[in-house]
Amino acid sequence: MDGRPYFITVEEAQTITFQTPPSLNVDTIPIDAGSNRVLAEDLPSQVNDPPFDNSAMDGFACRFDPEATYPLTLEIVGLQAASGVNDAIDVKAGQAVRIMTGAPMPPGTDAILPIERCNVEGNRVTFMEAPKPHFVRKMGENLKKDAVALTKGMQLTPSRIGLCATMGYATVPVYRRLRIGIVSTGDELKSPGESLKHGEIYESNSFGLAGLVEWSGHEPVRFPAVADSMEALRTTLNEAKATCDLILTSGGVSMGEFDYVRRLMEEEGDVHFWRMKIRPGSPPLFGLWDGTPLFGLPGNPVSSHVVFRMLVAPYLRHALGSDGPKEWTVRAKLCDPVKSTNDCVTLRRVTLTSTEEGMMAHQPRHQGSGNLESLASASGLTLLQPGQSGEAGEWIDVLVL
Ligand code: AMP
Ligand code: MG
Repeated sequence: MDGRPYFITVEEAQTITFQTPPSLNVDTIPIDAGSNRVLAEDLPSQVNDPPFDNSAMDGFACRFDPEATYPLTLEIVGLQAASGVNDAIDVKAGQAVRIMTGAPMPPGTDAILPIERCNVEGNRVTFMEAPKPHFVRKMGENLKKDAVALTKGMQLTPSRIGLCATMGYATVPVYRRLRIGIVSTGDELKSPGESLKHGEIYESNSFGLAGLVEWSGHEPVRFPAVADSMEALRTTLNEAKATCDLILTSGGVSMGEFDYVRRLMEEEGDVHFWRMKIRPGSPPLFGLWDGTPLFGLPGNPVSSHVVFRMLVAPYLRHALGSDGPKEWTVRAKLCDPVKSTNDCVTLRRVTLTSTEEGMMAHQPRHQGSGNLESLASASGLTLLQPGQSGEAGEWIDVLVL
């Protein structure tokens, strides 16, 4: 590898990839289209939230009188609905206004008694207890005008999209979704739906990786699987480079005779590192194909998924300065032993269950890196550090899938 980093830690690999980010663009889009997009600017609120003092309850509004005793009968002088201000109302001592949740507090009122604690007879209402000032939602108590509640890099979750609207934004500036080319390699690969000859398998990585790209908030561009030849691979990488911001390949990066991704990248591309200290998934490479960043992911289906989570997802979050999609790590007790190593992070598939003692991690399945079923039925990946024993009973970090 003539001086290039070789068999490095996951952190070292991440640091190297962060130095070669994809190029970014910003679009302004309607908030309806904002789900999972990443804000490209801070958003200061255009209004106070709430914009005016209003009632938190259906009930009666009146002026709070610290001297009053209860039950207390007041005269009903109006009705305040949850829109507009009823200008006819000016509430004096001894009077009350029927009010709906969210309605502006009528002039002269500062306290609410919920309707359940009131007895109404004709144009009179009897308060069974004192009205409460805390049932008034004060102007700006959630958010002051110009306060920055959503910052650049935040991924727009449903509640954040709602908050954009609350703050008065019909459109928002977001990073354009990266177009991410996905290129599977291997002579043995056939598309699902075709018939298989002996020695052939269905190509699954490009579909799984496309799902991961969408989960990351970007746009997958799946290419047909490429045969194991330098020419075919060169042609497809050139197509991908012309139309995509980033390329993911799968297969062809280990020590086999036909591992042409690595050979082509070494001979005609620019390899920034090859291999890292994780199991499964040790042979990934990262570099540039004619100026476009490229991750060479391993061919084994579990490995390609694991390396995406450990390398590509952090790279995409770092490029956009994004806080999503959020990765959760939990402490869990290993219920079955996991074979650890002295130099690699070991990512085995586990099923998590929540108990009174805490999270329990079971490893019910055969763990070959070609066994995609073991990933599909798992809820977490062990983050077993180099040198950790992996014995049953040990508490370890687990990445939630
Ligand atoms: P490779 O890294 O190319 O040596 O592939 C390692 C293993 O993963 C081999 O068993 C391949 O058949 C399998 N494999 C490679 N690419 C894919 C793919 N796109 N879908 C499913 N299996 C694959
Ligand atoms: Mg192959």
